[in-house]
Amino acid sequence: MSEKGQLIVISGFSGAGKGTVVKGLVEKYGYSLSISATTRAPRPGEVDGKDYYFKTQDEFRTLIDYNGFIEWAQYVDNYYGTPRKFVEEEMAAGRDVILEIEVQGAAIVKKQYPDASLIFVTTKDVKTLNERLTGRGSETEEQVNKRIRRAAEEAKLIGNYDYIVVNDEINACIDTVNSVILSEKCKKEKKVKLIRDLQNEFNAFV
Ligand code: 5GP
Repeated sequence: MSEKGQLIVISGFSGAGKGTVVKGLVEKYGYSLSISATTRAPRPGEVDGKDYYFKTQDEFRTLIDYNGFIEWAQYVDNYYGTPRKFVEEEMAAGRDVILEIEVQGAAIVKKQYPDASLIFVTTKDVKTLNERLTGRGSETEEQVNKRIRRAAEEAKLIGNYDYIVVNDEINACIDTVNSVILSEKCKKEKKVKLIRDLQNEFNAFV
């Protein structure tokens, strides 16, 4: 039987570049990515089933009722949730799965899956975050302020994370997060079967 896949949760302030980091991890290192469901309207260019599963409030409620989510949370004015089936199947097949979710959801995942690695991606300071959010040009000043206020709330929960990675340069950040995941997978707690097999083999040998 193959080893179970690692569950990796990546969060970060809006504007810290976590979406680009996750995209890089999937493209460069082949991680499996969970696609969330949301009640938010698609942004231009977003595709249903690729970026998100776009749901009505009623559809989202039904999924909650049927225990279809590992976790779900409200973010600003919308609901977001991680479909359970895909994540369970990928991990069972030995594939490492990334969830790109916000802080409340991350805390719920850690309770259900204590072995999950929680990684937080941040800019080096708030000034840089503000510049990146303003520079995107996709949000109004009021929306940017809302996201900064939300980031201030999220900053209080950074202590829940196992690893904090500063995104100064995108490629370096992607590689650092990948190294963190690789180290996590080498922990002795994750190698119980390998250790036991080695010891049994040695016992048979000597
Ligand atoms: P956006 O609207 O910018 O796509 O996402 C807003 C926030 O919701 C981001 O912080 C994103 O990581 C988070 N998010 C996306 N999917 C999920 C999910 O399934 N669960 C939770 N808890 N947060 C999510």
